Amino acid sequence: MSASDEVRTATDYVAHGHPRRALSAAWRAADTSLREGDAEALRAIMAICEVLRENPNKRIASDARQLSSYCQHTLDGAGGGVQSHAIIARISRMRQPKRVCPDCAEKVQQRAHVCKFCGFRFESLDDQSE
Ligand SMILES: [Zn+2]
Repeated sequence: MSASDEVRTATDYVAHGHPRRALSAAWRAADTSLREGDAEALRAIMAICEVLRENPNKRIASDARQLSSYCQHTLDGAGGGVQSHAIIARISRMRQPKRVCPDCAEKVQQRAHVCKFCGFRFESLDDQSE
């Protein structure tokens, strides 16, 4: 599902009085928005949170506050702009495969040229494989 579909799902749950489901759908939507860099969806999620944070259930209310500030930080990080490149870049970096340094056995980025732990240079290994 796209971020806007998930936002719609969350909105439907709010409208039909299922705050708990709305909240989990909203978290999913936030996750997708972040990946897609969809600032519009993030604002919509914050609007949903505005409703949910008034919920008598303290757990739901505090969860909604948390989600709202998460969205706010993401939007702030993007300078209020359309996409949050920094965050998306950080996520994609985390997903990159790691390789083990043959010298010190620490995990380093797949594309690293130099081991950040011991200074081992990987270039010689790369040259051999080409
Ligand atoms: Zn190393």
